[in-house]
Amino acid sequence: MEIAEALNRVQENINDSAVRAGRNPDEIKLVAVSKTIELQRIIEAVQAGAVILGENRVQEAQKKISNLKFQIPNSRVEWHLIGNLQRNKAKTAVPLFDLIHSVDSASLAEELNRQARKTGKKQRVLVQVKLSDEESKHGVPEAGLMDLIERITNMDSLILEGLMTMPPFFDEPEKTRPYFRKLKQIADMVLEKGFLINELSMGMSNDFEVAIEEGATMVRVGTAIFGARSCDR
Ligand SMILES: *Cc1c(COP(=O)(O)O)cnc(C)c1O
Repeated sequence: MEIAEALNRVQENINDSAVRAGRNPDEIKLVAVSKTIELQRIIEAVQAGAVILGENRVQEAQKKISNLKFQIPNSRVEWHLIGNLQRNKAKTAVPLFDLIHSVDSASLAEELNRQARKTGKKQRVLVQVKLSDEESKHGVPEAGLMDLIERITNMDSLILEGLMTMPPFFDEPEKTRPYFRKLKQIADMVLEKGFLINELSMGMSNDFEVAIEEGATMVRVGTAIFGARSCDR
């Protein structure tokens, strides 16, 4: 399938899911996940209307961001970091990304804050929450979440916009519903405590419709737009 056609189809599915859930489709932002995808195909997506691109590796994104700027100088795409970030890459990441979805420790937040302050940037971030016991998954466990949120909201150069999660993979999208519902409950609890967050980044190619029904405001979709990736990430 052509990228433009796939993108349109995903956008239509997003709109339908929102309407089905009684939500306004404009509340839901599509992050087109372009990790491992070559620049030419990313440009196709941008020309077809993608406005947010998601990458999970800093070095790979750095090249693409400068190459895209060169090829489409006045493009207004946003770049989001959706993958795990190591502290020693914070300095490179801050000038590159409009939103970082994967903040999961106070030490990473502090380093991002320090780097953002140096350049006068207000860095938008999400806290990644770990809702399953899978060893491989990053994210702060629920028990440490409020402490991390309090710390971040006291940092002068970070803007906390919301929460992100990545449930274990299931073939059956329904099985991810409890995780999405749980993140929404946690976000409501955070709001009740007086922290103004309004983004919930959850849902991927396989399960974004379920995520939208459960309150997602950002869905991160790669395969359904660009086709299967050649490597496993
Ligand atoms: C790769 C990735 C996605 C997109 O996955 P697809 O199944 O290709 O839609 C979403 N979120 C994160 C964090 C990813 O690493």
